[in-house]
Amino acid sequence: MQQLGSFWRRRDLAHIWHPCTQMHDHEAGNIPLLPIRRARGVWLEDCDGRRYLDAISSWWVNLFGHGRAEIAAAIARQANELEHVIFAGFTHRPAIELAERLTALAPPGLERVFFADNGSAAVEVALKLSFHYWYNQGRPERTRFVALGGGYHGETLGALGVGDLGLYRAVYRPLLIEPLVVNPPDCRGLPPAEWEAASRNAFAAMAETLRRHHETVAAVIVEPLVQCAGGMRMYHPVYLRLLRGECDRYGIHLIADEIATGFGRTGTLFACEQAAISPDLMCLSKGLTGGFLPLAAVLMKEELYQAFYGEYQQGRNFLHSHSYTGNPLACAAALATLDLFEKDDVLAANRRTAALMAENAMLLAGHPHIADVRQTGMIVAFDMIAERDTRTPYPAAERRGLGVYRYGLEHGVLLRPLGDTIYCMPPYVITPDEVERMIDVVRRGIDAVTTGR
Ligand code: PMP
Repeated sequence: MQQLGSFWRRRDLAHIWHPCTQMHDHEAGNIPLLPIRRARGVWLEDCDGRRYLDAISSWWVNLFGHGRAEIAAAIARQANELEHVIFAGFTHRPAIELAERLTALAPPGLERVFFADNGSAAVEVALKLSFHYWYNQGRPERTRFVALGGGYHGETLGALGVGDLGLYRAVYRPLLIEPLVVNPPDCRGLPPAEWEAASRNAFAAMAETLRRHHETVAAVIVEPLVQCAGGMRMYHPVYLRLLRGECDRYGIHLIADEIATGFGRTGTLFACEQAAISPDLMCLSKGLTGGFLPLAAVLMKEELYQAFYGEYQQGRNFLHSHSYTGNPLACAAALATLDLFEKDDVLAANRRTAALMAENAMLLAGHPHIADVRQTGMIVAFDMIAERDTRTPYPAAERRGLGVYRYGLEHGVLLRPLGDTIYCMPPYVITPDEVERMIDVVRRGIDAVTTGR
């Protein structure tokens, strides 16, 4: 059995360059490369028969478990009808139905849908649409974007430009948009009762930036409620409410990047709902297809659509296309995913699972090397630190988070810490026993890399 894994590993390493990976770590055996043969529910199974609980929903895409039969069947049905067709000049039922259902589910006023095929592409579309809108409106001086410190919106050049993670951004800086970066409403280290006041206070920096620069700003882009890749930094919905107010005051677009937070992850179908706001543009991807196929959608207000509408000769067109725009297989997967939301009260079930995650996570709250246990919906996060009282982090070079990753795999749980921030963001179908097991492995993993126990 053991040989099968190494057989595939050897062949992989001969040709494949994996994302977000220093390949030397695989060659040197610092990080295992695991050939996965199949997956069902929350479980991945490798070629040697070992199983791993997917505590990160395979980069936050999976909602209803791997191999979910209804989605698989919908894709198979669609593949036998129409696998793909150019989406310029042609259309099809899965895309039409999906656009109808997404606009019906989204916050009010988001009436138009532009499809793309991954999260970064959706962010590119939203940035270009906002920028181009102001050009079409005769306000070409509105060229700048405002973004939050610690934000992440993808890794294509435009999306990377409005992100603020040095690790991803530094080398490419000469190629990137320079946004106005505002200190984020980062509630790490605070009890939930203080999140609202802290988020309100943090908004002063945003208000000031908009007051000073609004005449040249096209849009503000944010990850609503949780800045995920930036370390699962969470904040209170009041920040979004205040932001909506100031964007309205100055007529600036608000772009909600719900690529990670959308589809029930934060407790509501979309995180923006908790602030009772509608953004001008909303980017969706990841969970949109239940984690089966790449697809993205940018939902927008009618006003944006109208700014590009007119006789061809007026030159107002939005010229942006991807070959796989509106792919019917992906749209069919998305429709089947929305059916699952309709069939069961997923959000109510998630609330129960989230409460269970909180209960288990709280057992770690007094741990000498955990600074902060925080939660928003189906995301719990823990910061691992050297010294709790002084909140001293471990030197990054020690790669302790990586130690937890390795420990997790050795004990059958796929965690993928962000530096020393460990988090769980499991598929919604995780059972109470599996929640317990997942959090227990987090605890033991942190123990192993902090105290060596
Ligand atoms: N925005 C957010 C908030 C994300 O979390 C991600 C992916 N982690 C992206 C954009 C980029 O999506 P993709 O990886 O599909 O390009």
